[in-house]
Amino acid sequence: MTDRFSRVQGEPFVAAGMALAPFTAAQTVSINAFQVSGSPNPLTCGNDTRHHVLVAEIGGGLRCIDCDHTQNFAPAATADWSWRVAQRVAA
Ligand SMILES: [Zn+2]
Repeated sequence: MTDRFSRVQGEPFVAAGMALAPFTAAQTVSINAFQVSGSPNPLTCGNDTRHHVLVAEIGGGLRCIDCDHTQNFAPAATADWSWRVAQRVAA
């Protein structure tokens, strides 16, 4: 019996279209690549969108390097490389 909040050891936790912290190494690489990809909609600070884009941390969440604001989720598409396909379609 599983529910949407259960987690298989070592598997990324994705629920309701969101990848939830703590992020795996693979998710972290994908998210950070997205953040510097030139996307018009990078994940930004919840306190001030003029701060640097959020940085994903392995075993953690997203963090703002300017004010330490944290966010414990990211859109699933940013965490599994599917953002690359979306960008190619949009280009
Ligand atoms: Zn900030």
